[in-house]
Formats: sequence, C-alpha cells, structure tokens
Amino acid sequence: MRRKLVAGNWKMNGSIAANALLLTQINAGFGNAGCDAAVCVPAPYLSQCQALLADSAIALGAQDVSSHDAGAYTGEVSAAMLLEFACRYVIVGHSERRGYFGETDELVAQKALRALHAGLVPIVCVGETLAQREAGQTDAIVSRQIDAVLSLIAENELTKIVVAYEPVWAIGTGKTATPEMAQQVHAVLRQRLHARSATAAQEVRILYGGSMKPENARELLAMPDIDGGLIGGAALKAADFLAIIHAA
Ligand code: PEP
Repeated sequence: MRRKLVAGNWKMNGSIAANALLLTQINAGFGNAGCDAAVCVPAPYLSQCQALLADSAIALGAQDVSSHDAGAYTGEVSAAMLLEFACRYVIVGHSERRGYFGETDELVAQKALRALHAGLVPIVCVGETLAQREAGQTDAIVSRQIDAVLSLIAENELTKIVVAYEPVWAIGTGKTATPEMAQQVHAVLRQRLHARSATAAQEVRILYGGSMKPENARELLAMPDIDGGLIGGAALKAADFLAIIHAA
C-alpha cells in the first residue's frame, strides 16, 4: 500500500510575512493527517521555511535544482545546497520549466539523477499539452518524458523517485482531468515503471496535479493509481491545502 503524498508547489509566490502566516496555519491544522505532506517553496525562503517547519511533520521541498554539482553556473542552485536547508523533495521538469525555460527531457533526467544522488527525492513532472491530447498523443508524450528519466536511473534507485502527472492544459486553468482520464494516464506511467522494475511499479508514488482543489480531491485520490497530489494554487490557501491533505 503506497502512502499518499500531498505536495504544494508555491511557484513564484510568497513573502516573509505571507509564508509565516501560511505555514503557521498549515502546521496548526495538520493534526494527525494520514498522508505525507510537503511544501515546495521559492529558494530564497528555504531558510525561513526550514525554521517554520522544524517541529512539523510537513516536509520541505524546492521547485528546481541544477543538473551540475557546483561551479560557474550563475543563478543555479545545487542539490547539496538544498540539502543544507533540510529539503527532502525537489520538483524537476515542471511544465513551466519545460515551456518557459526550454528544459528538455534530457536535462530533466540529469536534474532528477543529480537530486537522487545527493539524497533528495525528485518529483518528476510529466504531462501533455491540449494540442497533444487532441492529437491523441498523450500516452506517447508522457511515456517519452518518463522513459528519459527512468533510463538514467539504476534499477535499485528507481523506488526513490516520485512521479507527477500534470496535464499542461489543467495547470492553473481551473480545468481538471476527470478521475478516469487521470487514472488512464497514471496506469500508462505505472506500466512504464513496470517495464524497468516490478518493485518500482509497486512502490513509486504517482501524483496528480492540475487544478486539484478540495471539491475534486477526494474523487481523484480514490483512483487506484493516484497516490497523491501536486497542488499549485490551492496550496497557497491554508484551508484548501489542509482540506486536500485530509481527503488523502
Ligand atoms: C502545478 O503547477 O504544479 C499545479 C498543479 O498548479 P494548479 O494546482 O494551480 O493547477
């Protein structure tokens, strides 16, 4: 049985005052939730959020990591740096990074590998655009994206990753994949994992992301291959994020 994970992706939002209020409220409402939870915050706030989460069951994460170890890479943040702030998770290959910053499957795979080798859990995002869905390419696109990552990772390390299926057309748009649509793609991703390792297929958590909110979380999370959520907009409102956590 895979324990569910609900991870918030704050994107480029927050301030010192807003973060303090949000995490204080989330900590207070977390109670004895039966799932794992994390917040992936902008890099400048890692230290503040590390302190705010010091006695919390909620884990800290980042939104990106360099594919390099160290050196002359202006603006980059290394996996070792994230670990110094007690990060457990790092998102790699979010569609906004692929779309706006030209990240390729190969770069995303390198980032996932670098994170893994440093001891972080990469949350590897995959997902199709609306045009790709309408052209019937969804399964091929997500398979290509996940295979690029899986092919770089040693079999005995595959169980250490998290995958997130995030249809690009559902991110921040209010449009959500139906539970059945999401489940179908999660099953494809599970098959890709199985092609590399039966154990990984059994153990790796596949999150759904794309306008998940309190109103649709329970139905999505009830599907057999949906093992949690990657939450954007709703992670910025304590009540909504907590409602999703308690639905998981
Ligand atoms: C995301 O960006 O990872 C995401 C799922 O965003 P939203 O929940 O706002 O659609």
